[in-house]
Amino acid sequence: MNDAYFLKLAIDEAKKSLDESGIPIGAVLVKEGTVISRGHNRLIQNDSVILHAEMDAIENAGRLSYEDYRKCTLYTTLSPCPMCCGAIILYNISRVVIGENTTLMGAESLLVDNDVEITVLDDSECKDLFDKFTKKHPEIWQKELDKVGNTTEIKKVDNCPIDNG
Ligand SMILES: [Zn+2]
Repeated sequence: MNDAYFLKLAIDEAKKSLDESGIPIGAVLVKEGTVISRGHNRLIQNDSVILHAEMDAIENAGRLSYEDYRKCTLYTTLSPCPMCCGAIILYNISRVVIGENTTLMGAESLLVDNDVEITVLDDSECKDLFDKFTKKHPEIWQKELDKVGNTTEIKKVDNCPIDNG
């Protein structure tokens, strides 16, 4: 089983969200080749402010040990936002596979700066799913963007204490 296989499972989760009239973003957490949890964006379904797909998958995995988190790869259909990157960094998840980052860019550089290995698959199905949703429901998506000040990238990069030379 490879990255494409696990990303496909994350895409299935994104579709599940769409079926629930939610935002189509999905994620799965994989430990040493075994799926340990799945999640999808539940902001609309649960009237939540934190249940992004990645947070949902991490939450659904339960409370793992440091060693277990280190062995995990998180697959997500869309570039993760600063909140999700924060959880990934906090729990020392060692690798993140991202479906795509062209429809929306997240805080990937935060992951790289914190030694998280990232792989971007540039997957067309992930792009289509998200693109179709934002075009079909621009009012729903704009409302989400408004809440976060119109960006899911890192804020105030210039003030970032990390010196990359
Ligand atoms: Zn997020």
